Amino acid sequence: MYDVNEVRKDFPILSREVNGKPLVYLDNGASAQKPQVVIDAVTRGYAEEYANVHRGLHYLSNLATDKYEGVRGTIARFLGATSEDEIVYTTGTTMGINLVAYGWAMPRMEAGDEIVLSVMEHHANIVPWHFLRERQGVVIKWVDVDSTGALDPQKVIDAIGPKTKLVAVTQVSNVLGTVVDVKAICAGARAKGVPVLVDGSQASVHMPVNVEEIGCDFYAITGHKLYGPSASGAIWIKSDRMKEMRPFLGGGDMIREVHKDEITYNDPPMKFEAGTPGIVQQIGLGVALEYMMDLGMENISAHEAMLRDYTVSKLGGLNWISTQGTTADKAAIFSFTMEGAAHAHDISTILDKKGVAVRAGHHCAGPLMDHLGVSATCRASFGLYNTTEEVDALVDALELAHDLFG
Ligand code: PMP
Repeated sequence: MYDVNEVRKDFPILSREVNGKPLVYLDNGASAQKPQVVIDAVTRGYAEEYANVHRGLHYLSNLATDKYEGVRGTIARFLGATSEDEIVYTTGTTMGINLVAYGWAMPRMEAGDEIVLSVMEHHANIVPWHFLRERQGVVIKWVDVDSTGALDPQKVIDAIGPKTKLVAVTQVSNVLGTVVDVKAICAGARAKGVPVLVDGSQASVHMPVNVEEIGCDFYAITGHKLYGPSASGAIWIKSDRMKEMRPFLGGGDMIREVHKDEITYNDPPMKFEAGTPGIVQQIGLGVALEYMMDLGMENISAHEAMLRDYTVSKLGGLNWISTQGTTADKAAIFSFTMEGAAHAHDISTILDKKGVAVRAGHHCAGPLMDHLGVSATCRASFGLYNTTEEVDALVDALELAHDLFG
């Protein structure tokens, strides 16, 4: 375990005030704050080491290329991948899933073929599949969560039929915090010969991940939630699957030769990385992942489990708060609504006056909102630097909101 008060000193923004109150940042599910080492790496990347990558025959270009390419190995280590060639750089999970939709699924799915999704997917893992539904008649099969927000892996496996070409599930819900047993889903899907895409946007932040142990085919992560820069990220793609993929975006870097009548492609993973990338962002992501691994993913997970249990007990004492997602196996992510007329946006506005940053809305999870029968919730999502005192500040601010609206 680490000393959270020492860790907080690494994040300069955490010592600022908001609306005259110390910032209590509980919007980590949307985007996490950055440690000084990441800020320094980004500054150095621009101030001292900047040039375009891959095509230079000069010192700075080679330096930037080495640093940028070096991150592939860091991501592979972070995800427990055996080869860094299985890491495709992206601008985040949205791009990673779109790459799979356009590059792998689109050429091999026809009308009537199915994709299995859980009802608690983020729009990033829904909309690309709707494109396939609209454009080529692919059928989306939805698997519900139970009343506690848990997803039974067997229900996902049972939904796989002879026409199913892909299962795409999140490992942790960005709304409910539910942890999904993706390993069991992958084992069942593999037995039926169906690949699995795991949306690791939330899970990779909160727990150790090993893609080989999970047994999936695609695993997407997003840098800005991992204490790294926005527009950084990656998707791990099993090499057999990568060989089956056609390129998604076309442009510089992803080709070997271009002529008037023919083109040849670069080797994977660069075959899937077109154009000038987020060079400094990706270098910053590498530093962020090293920072997390230095703290220890087990330690981060244990610290957040402590925060989760403390929050469960505190919110449990407020009988005018309903928490959505009560399964025990969950990350420290809490969605809730308040009895009475208060809308989630009104609650978050009051909380903000107290310096407490939470998110309110549908959290890019329309089908889950329909399933829960709500139009919006408030969401408090915790990160590695949050404290029990901040949980208390959240509860105090909620009591104020309840006094005003209840
Ligand atoms: N999936 C999940 C579960 C998420 O929480 C998010 C971000 N809210 C995304 C996908 C999309 O990530 P990004 O916007 O960084 O591409």
